[in-house]
Amino acid sequence: MPLIPEDVLEQIRLRADIVEVVQSYVPTLKKMGMTWKACCPFHHEKTPSFTVNAGRQIFKCFGCGKGGNVFNFVMEMEQLGFADAAELLAKRFGVYIPDPVPGQFAGKKNESFPGQVIYGSRERLCTLHEKIAEFYRRNLLEHPDSPVAAYFKTRGLPDDIAARFMIGAAPDAWDSAIQFAHKNGFIDDELRTSGIVSSKEDGSNHIYDRFRNRLVFPIWNEQGRIVGFSARSIEKDPKGWKYVNSPESPIFRKGRLLYALNFARTSIPKANAVILCEGQLDTIAWHRAGLTHAVAPQGTAFTAEQAMILKRHTQNVVLALDNDSAGHEAVFKDAAILLPLGFNLKVALYQGAKDADETLAKFGAEALEKTAAEAVDFFEFALTCASQKYDVSVPSGKSAAANDVVRWILQLDNEITRDFYIDWLANKLSVSIDSIRSVVQRRSLGGDRFQAQLVRQEATPGPALKKPDKSMDKALAVLLQLVCCSKEFAEAASRDLPPGSLGSSPVAKSVEYMIQTAMNDEWDGKCDGIFNRLNQTGEDVSELAELLSAPLMPLGCAGQDGQPASPQENTPEYEAWLASLDDFRRSSYNSCLRSILNHYLMQERARLIDKAKNPDVPQEERNAAVLRITGISKELLSLSEKYPVK
Ligand SMILES: [Zn+2]
Repeated sequence: MPLIPEDVLEQIRLRADIVEVVQSYVPTLKKMGMTWKACCPFHHEKTPSFTVNAGRQIFKCFGCGKGGNVFNFVMEMEQLGFADAAELLAKRFGVYIPDPVPGQFAGKKNESFPGQVIYGSRERLCTLHEKIAEFYRRNLLEHPDSPVAAYFKTRGLPDDIAARFMIGAAPDAWDSAIQFAHKNGFIDDELRTSGIVSSKEDGSNHIYDRFRNRLVFPIWNEQGRIVGFSARSIEKDPKGWKYVNSPESPIFRKGRLLYALNFARTSIPKANAVILCEGQLDTIAWHRAGLTHAVAPQGTAFTAEQAMILKRHTQNVVLALDNDSAGHEAVFKDAAILLPLGFNLKVALYQGAKDADETLAKFGAEALEKTAAEAVDFFEFALTCASQKYDVSVPSGKSAAANDVVRWILQLDNEITRDFYIDWLANKLSVSIDSIRSVVQRRSLGGDRFQAQLVRQEATPGPALKKPDKSMDKALAVLLQLVCCSKEFAEAASRDLPPGSLGSSPVAKSVEYMIQTAMNDEWDGKCDGIFNRLNQTGEDVSELAELLSAPLMPLGCAGQDGQPASPQENTPEYEAWLASLDDFRRSSYNSCLRSILNHYLMQERARLIDKAKNPDVPQEERNAAVLRITGISKELLSLSEKYPVK
């Protein structure tokens, strides 16, 4: 990828407001005081540690450590490289990247912007999909006698819905999409990358239309760009695949897409829930019935990545899968992903029909409304399934059913909810709470996957932790200068720093030494005494020596010869200078404390996560560790308030 011109990047940066961009992905982002906060879209958490600073146009998650500017956010969110993220932002904020693209897609004019050549392949791929979607749509409308149009009529979809979902028809031909794309200035390489064509496997480089004589559903990404297609066979019992989907491409990643989320994203907060169903036709049926908060995974099983996408919109999921044994199995598969991530789950049960599409056709929109309204609690559903498997009127059946349901109770990410369901289950099976507790105990000691799964999620990356932390070294160096230049700071540090938070480097030991002298009322601003101690243990003191031989007043305000550039004493200027120096030092102190405590708490958190995961540790202690992890997340979040930096 060639470099994007500096001034173009600057224009994108100026126009792409980070709050607006983050909010388009994380609608729960709310202003709290000076900063914007939300639960982090990159890791699982219950209390928000993801912050956006509008003034500085940066984001930072104090939970997983991710942070940066608007470009970093889009790169992380869309899993893109820098150039692609810039391109996406450029398009969205109306900045044209003027240079032609060298390489495979070079020199092709983009129809959307006559006279302009758009940078990079991603934008062209989206545009290609959007043009082809219009082409399929026109083909359906303009050929009402075609077999696809005839099949489409049998589905009974109203015009407005068909238009909204841009349902189209792929012609019964091998090259109609290819010809259309060529006419619009797209080249074969682009068609191959997009997956709109298939290549012959005989090495001849020959391509042909992937979708032929099928009903075509465009697939949008969350931002409302068309990135793929799903094409349904029009035969009742097709010889080939019932659905042919776009293959994975740079813009189409099935595991990260939810069908109709672009439409549902405004309805989900209003409904305070999302309906998760199977496939396009069910989703469309829900939307037709006015329940526009329905989405579906795209041509694949539901993934944890998709769950994290939903998490940005709501905590409440109604599983509305097919009313058959495969559908019920899918409920449990999805629950295994959703429960540990803290979702509240309900299960919608279609009455007298297999799915939403059939329910709507047979009984109308009201029946679907009723299905959603009467969705049962997931645990109710799990117990009903268990009761069908075992005879719960006899003790052995009760025990087997309890075992089945406890498995799901263990996936819950919240102690109180877990206790609630333990009571509930005991009550339902008419057994004592203690007996359910003992099942819980046994199953969790038996290495149930729950704990590991929960913790794996809690543990989502702390990349800053793994690298040696430069900011920690710098903070310690500045803190040492501060505790040497004023007893007040040494005393403050003794209050603010928990034992063990400084680490064990020579600089850390020197800071501790200064704190000690202050507490013993022996502070004299000199820390040469520390060398004797360090020399005894044979530590490398060269770095410390270098640090301490620098003037102890620099901190950005040293003048010539390392001496502070102070105005003449006993003048108003001198007083003002002293005051500003004081402010500056206090701010430096806060900044050090933030870095040090952040580092320390992140390490504590990692240690506790290991402990909570360890099956050799007694369950009680593991539970305590999980609670402490939550406490630490809060502490991490409060650091910037507690230690403000100017
Ligand atoms: Zn995070």
